[in-house]
Amino acid sequence: MMKFLTILLDDTSVSFCHVDNPYTERKLIPIDILKKGIMYAMKENLSVQIVYPNYDLPDEYLKVIDSIDHTNIVHSSHSLSADIVVIDEFDKLETYVRQADLDSIYVLRYAKKDLFASEAIIREAIKVLNRINIVIKDVESFSDLDINDYIKFLDNVAITVSQEFAKGHNPQINVLTDRLFLENPNHCNAGVENITLSPNGCFYPCPAFYYDEYSSKGQILSVGNIDDGLAIKNPQLYKLDFAPICRICDAYHCRRCVWLNKQLTREINTPSRQQCIIAHLERNAAKTMNIPEVYNISYIPEIDYLDPFDNLIKNK
Ligand code: SF4
Repeated sequence: MMKFLTILLDDTSVSFCHVDNPYTERKLIPIDILKKGIMYAMKENLSVQIVYPNYDLPDEYLKVIDSIDHTNIVHSSHSLSADIVVIDEFDKLETYVRQADLDSIYVLRYAKKDLFASEAIIREAIKVLNRINIVIKDVESFSDLDINDYIKFLDNVAITVSQEFAKGHNPQINVLTDRLFLENPNHCNAGVENITLSPNGCFYPCPAFYYDEYSSKGQILSVGNIDDGLAIKNPQLYKLDFAPICRICDAYHCRRCVWLNKQLTREINTPSRQQCIIAHLERNAAKTMNIPEVYNISYIPEIDYLDPFDNLIKNK
């Protein structure tokens, strides 16, 4: 069942996930499509996420947006205070942390090499911020050669997070603490619980599919539109029940990104080795954390593989 509607206000709205937004020209969503989107969310009882471009909107748009409870997602350089702030300039993290609103979630959208190089400042940021989501932009290029660098990064960040918990400050960082408090999968669920409305009035499983439509020049990747409703072909393929590897996996915090699946394996429901290894390194680092008993964390079993696909083959 759908639970969330993400509305891209403009073609240049900030990207908050793996893929870069290829659109460079402004195209604001027509006001009637925005109104229909909000009406759709009300009728379907969906929570709304509004994704902003990096310029000020006309007042009539702000009034329409304010007619429904919503979550704002903005780029860090935007003046609007927001629930979710995307930082993709790794060299400016220190500045943004100094100005941070502690109620906001900060998404660090970094290439892996910038992430590893930013370890020290991220460890400082954890002492201040309450929630950080790390998103690696170039997952497709993550190779076995990156494993040791990511382990080192996670282990060092885990030490800081554990120290903060010991002090009574409980920072959340998706790649470490989410798994500690999950007993069941908590994936992105694009196309199952989440749907995106783009400025052209069409629905997409998530913004990445809209961006791909631009890059693929002519290929239609939409799954319905605001006038005729949702029309997802083979909706079962997006579901965990139809993902044979993921449904027996306990990296519960993994995004299980269906866009990455499609990019890297050509199948919506087959995960890439890159995504699985990253999620398992995070799972294993979470297991090593020293969190006081009072927080009642989940048990994470010992395993001897990083890619569940390897384990499947081994046990055949
Ligand atoms: S780690 Fe791999 S198998 Fe496990 S949920 Fe993520 S994508 Fe699926």
